[in-house]
Amino acid sequence: MTHLQKFQQKLESDRAALISSAQNTFYLSGFRYDDGYLLIFPSRAVLLTDFRYEEAAQSHADSAFEVLCPKRGMLDAVRELLLEENVRDLLIEEESVTVALGERLNQKLTDVTVHKGASARLKALRVIKDEGEIAAIAAAQEITDAAFSHILGYLKPGVREIDVALELEFFMRRAGADGIAFHTIAVSGAASSLPHGVPRSCPLERGFLTMDFGARVGGYCADMTRTVVIGRADAEMKRLYDTVLKAQRAALDRAAGGVSCRALDLVARDIIDGAGYEGCFGHSLGHGVGLDVHEDPRLSRGASESAVLLPGHVVTVEPGIYLAGKYGCRIEDMIAVNADGSIRNFTKSTKELIEI
Ligand code: ZN
Ligand code: ZN
Repeated sequence: MTHLQKFQQKLESDRAALISSAQNTFYLSGFRYDDGYLLIFPSRAVLLTDFRYEEAAQSHADSAFEVLCPKRGMLDAVRELLLEENVRDLLIEEESVTVALGERLNQKLTDVTVHKGASARLKALRVIKDEGEIAAIAAAQEITDAAFSHILGYLKPGVREIDVALELEFFMRRAGADGIAFHTIAVSGAASSLPHGVPRSCPLERGFLTMDFGARVGGYCADMTRTVVIGRADAEMKRLYDTVLKAQRAALDRAAGGVSCRALDLVARDIIDGAGYEGCFGHSLGHGVGLDVHEDPRLSRGASESAVLLPGHVVTVEPGIYLAGKYGCRIEDMIAVNADGSIRNFTKSTKELIEI
């Protein structure tokens, strides 16, 4: 079943949905453009765009969509289509519709009642990845793993953090990525204690170097982190690294369909706290990955008791220990839950401590 068909099944017979966000437009139509809307009825789907995108939309969008380029305003066309289908109730994306668009909808669609709900329905669909999505994520991670192998040969004294980040990005683009999944993190020395530090234009400092990066393929993201050592690791650094790795391996071993997202976070957290690093793992264990690099489900202490891993979920497992002003370390893999509840780990790069 296509993404469009799945969404149409979730629509009440007398409603339509107006999709305006770039990610959900792409998810439903398979066509990426940034000016226009999808108007979806239970058994009709219209892609509204303008002349610039018309030809590409005809050839790239799911063929179930009628492609329309309204001569007058887009929202006038939406109004006419709703009247034509005799629909008076319209779902909008409550999480992304701007105040400005909301006002325009109120002005143009005076005889239509606007409801929240499209975002929630799409979130529920997007959290479960199908085969095609899993294949795209695997391809993105394959490029990301290759970038890590490549960077190991590139790292040497004198190279700047920003060079490391750019080299990873160039490599991933050259290897066939559509782009990068998020801003690359490459932070060394004391800056490695910043979980989301920004690469600096200074030479790599001795000590930990944390690299968090990912390719994007077919719109889908990869997300991995490896921490290596520039120079030699002392006993304290080895102990910290081993604790993060032990926590990550324990969480990966425990992960399976039906396991609570909260319990999984606690598996890793208990190991880190138990080793004397209480309070040093300041973020959650992981997050869903898909068209967005941070999606549901969240593997976190704050997750509800009922939130469990399900077949089709793709999540990261990324414990870390950060000692403010000193250094930090994180190790991140990305996994999927298979139909039988077993786990597929997309990330193949070594996790043994590497000294450069
Ligand atoms: Zn990451
Ligand atoms: Zn992540």
